[in-house]
This record gives sequence, C-alpha cells and structure tokens, in this order.
Amino acid sequence: MTMREIVAGLHAELVRYNLVAWTAGNVSGRIPGEDLFVIKPSGVSYDELTPANMVVCDLDGNLVEGEHSPSSDTAAHAYVYRNMPDVGGVVHTHSTYASAWAARGEAIPCVLTAMADEFGGEIPIGPFALIGDDSIGQGIVETLKGHRSKAVLMQNHGVFSIGKDARAAVKAAVMCEDVARTVHVARQLGEPLPIPQDDIDRLYDRYQNVYGQRSPR
Ligand SMILES: [Zn+2]
Repeated sequence: MTMREIVAGLHAELVRYNLVAWTAGNVSGRIPGEDLFVIKPSGVSYDELTPANMVVCDLDGNLVEGEHSPSSDTAAHAYVYRNMPDVGGVVHTHSTYASAWAARGEAIPCVLTAMADEFGGEIPIGPFALIGDDSIGQGIVETLKGHRSKAVLMQNHGVFSIGKDARAAVKAAVMCEDVARTVHVARQLGEPLPIPQDDIDRLYDRYQNVYGQRSPR
C-alpha cells in the first residue's frame, strides 16, 4: 500500500470511532526514507477523501504534490516530524470527551490499567496555542518529548497523538477518547482510585514489550 492509500484509509477510522465532526480532524503519515509526509487536504468532507486527493508536504509544511491545499493543521504536523525523528504518524481530533478535559486544562489521571498499558501514565495537557505559526507544534513536542504518553490534550483545543506510524497514532487517538470518556464517567459518582506508580510501570512495560503478536509489523 502507498502512504496515500494508508493515510486516506485511516481517516475512515476517525469517523468509525466518532472522533470527528464535519471536516475537523486529520491524519498524516511520514513517507519512509524521505523528508515528506502525506496529510489530509483542507476542507474536503470525509466521504470524499481518496488516496488521489491526499496531499504531500515537506517537513516545513510546504505543498509538494496534490491538487488541494493541505490541512490547516499541517504546520503542527510538520513541526512534530522535524523535531521528533522517530515519529511516523500524527493525528489531530477534537474528540468530545478528550476535548472536554482539554477545555478544563486538566490532564487525564492514570486510573485505568488500559491507560497504564497504552500511555504509561496520565495523558498530559499541552499549552494554549493559536494556529498560524509553530506554537501548536512546539507545544506538542515540548509536552510529549520525554513523556511516555503518545497523546497530548492541547489546552482549550483538542488531541494530538503520535506513533511510530500513522496507524499507531490513530490507535492512540482512539484510546485517548475511550479513556477520557471512562474517567469522566467514573468522576460522576466519586473520585477514581489512583494506580500505584510501580504497577503503572509494570503494566506499561508488559504491554509495550510482551503483549500482542510478535511479528516484525
Ligand atoms: Zn484543531
């Protein structure tokens, strides 16, 4: 599969998991071995996204190939790729529950084993930042560099997630919304119980290193 096909197909997952409204949200994937990435075109409805209308940008966010202009979040994706060489995919959503935590500027505490598995602790809050320059990208990178979490809640905005590839970044976005919702529900009738740090560490280590199929993929 080409990166255009992969990235176009992954946008359907954002719809399937109810993470996006209208044309908000986007997925990008780094083209292996090149200083380029594929991202969603701006303003095209999810039903009309195809491999052919995906756009290719360089790591400064300039359009390299494509008939549409790139997503308005392209600068943030480009900044992440420039500054985090191991990142192969970036996802952005305004998914409801995660964005509600972002609206309060409150990190999601690690009170579920699934959170320890996937995020290795809390899902942190990134700074308030306006679109238009590198502020959002800087906020993402400053928050996630050296943090286990593959997702950040940008204050008053929404979720950015990263992964070794685009599919992993989509998974992090899906899991982020899932735990945001569950912890929100838990909060309604009381204070969720924290998980001791050494148990979080054990869960994270096991999930990252042992769990799942041992194929190279
Ligand atoms: Zn946004």
